[in-house]
Amino acid sequence: MIKFDIDRHKIKTLGAGAAAGLAAGILITFLGAYCVISEDRLAAAAKEEQLTQENEQLAEELKKERAVQENTETLAGDEDGWQLILVNEDHPLDSSYEPEKLTEISPGYEVDNRIVSDLRQMLDDGAAEGLSMYVTSAYRSYEQQTQTFNASMQNRLNQKMTPLEAYQETSMSVALPGTSEHATGLAVDIISTEYAALDDRQGDTEEQKWLMEHCWEYGFILRYPPEKSDITGIIYEPWHYRYVGKDAAKEITEQGITLEEYLGQ
Ligand SMILES: [Zn+2]
Repeated sequence: MIKFDIDRHKIKTLGAGAAAGLAAGILITFLGAYCVISEDRLAAAAKEEQLTQENEQLAEELKKERAVQENTETLAGDEDGWQLILVNEDHPLDSSYEPEKLTEISPGYEVDNRIVSDLRQMLDDGAAEGLSMYVTSAYRSYEQQTQTFNASMQNRLNQKMTPLEAYQETSMSVALPGTSEHATGLAVDIISTEYAALDDRQGDTEEQKWLMEHCWEYGFILRYPPEKSDITGIIYEPWHYRYVGKDAAKEITEQGITLEEYLGQ
């Protein structure tokens, strides 16, 4: 009996072991199958995600391409629309774009001929008020913009920033080539003779105060106002003025909005 019991016990143990083994086997098989299924699902999801991303990227590129074409056509056209062209990171300008007629506003600085008289008037009226200011940047070609961008980035690299930091900081203050308004010939940087630095304090000079108050009368807007960087993608630039025409300049200034907001972008 004892032996039997032992045997039974053995059998029981064996049985339990076999059952456990079987259960474990099933579990492993099940888990294995589950893994295969979920791997398939994961792969499918990843593929779908990739396709979605690719589609979005493609749509984004197409949108940009269309914007580039539209921008080039708008600028080249003679209708009033040219003055409302939007150039930013999402609306680049074709790298080969060149204003049809450039006119020198001061030695070495040219702008689109269509804004010359208003710009001259603004500078002359400012001077008549006893202010002293000058244009420090006007039309910049794609190549010049590339050089400006690279120089600014190099400057930051020299300050021991990592390439990524340097790139991020630079792109907040210097437009990527193709996305700069200076390539349109419709934008100018004007600074005070008293204070030459391109920083926030430029905005405190009498010259900038006057320009900010009166530029709309000449068809210009302060293009990158403070607290609008999230919309424009560019930091506060109290020296960068953009020609948009007198009607738009008045409305944009009165409403305290950006060109992006004005155009519903
Ligand atoms: Zn500028």
